[in-house]
Amino acid sequence: MPAHSPTHTTGNAPSTAEQAAPQAAELCARCSRMGNSCCVADRKEAHLFFPLSQKEWERLQPYAHLTVLDHATLERQKPEEDCIRQSVANSPEFLASMGRMFPAHGHRFEALFPVPGKHFHIAVRHNGECVFLGEEGCVLPREVRPWYCLLFPNWVHGNSLTNFVPTHCLVTQTGQYSMSICRLLGTTPEEVRRLFACLCEDWGLVSK
Ligand code: SF4
Ligand code: SF4
Repeated sequence: MPAHSPTHTTGNAPSTAEQAAPQAAELCARCSRMGNSCCVADRKEAHLFFPLSQKEWERLQPYAHLTVLDHATLERQKPEEDCIRQSVANSPEFLASMGRMFPAHGHRFEALFPVPGKHFHIAVRHNGECVFLGEEGCVLPREVRPWYCLLFPNWVHGNSLTNFVPTHCLVTQTGQYSMSICRLLGTTPEEVRRLFACLCEDWGLVSK
């Protein structure tokens, strides 16, 4: 998982081989075998993980039984947390990062994530793996996954289609440009824009 550092140059968000087209699936499988899946995050960067919206969390509720949390993580669990989401303090660094990722909506983040305050991200195990990461990738049906999982490594920046450039991502290394990454993943720019619009709506960045 959720490796979700939200920067364009180093950030990852969750995605899986299972959701990808055949060529990307092979690349993702190879990436995962090398221990680099984008469904694994550095817990030290939890304050910069993608937030998990209330709507995304509600869609995941029926699948709570699929989560696997390790003992150490359960021991640390806070009262407001469950097996699907963990909380982290809103911070100026988080707001700055979100502002860079959403130049058209940056002004909304201070209202949505006030400092001091907290937000949730998808739960990760002690070793940084997403709680929904199984031996063969994500155990969730594609249609209920968080929007950033469905988007990664694609992104929309302003009006432009773009992509994250995590150093270890074989899909971005192979595709290099947004259009070829879309082809590798078997998706289209229109679908990427649709997913991004859904994310913005669920996060409260735009009204319906
Ligand atoms: S929900 Fe699935 S795709 Fe998203 S980070 Fe977790 S394991 Fe990966
Ligand atoms: S190749 Fe990229 S998209 Fe595929 S698992 Fe690795 S980091 Fe994720």
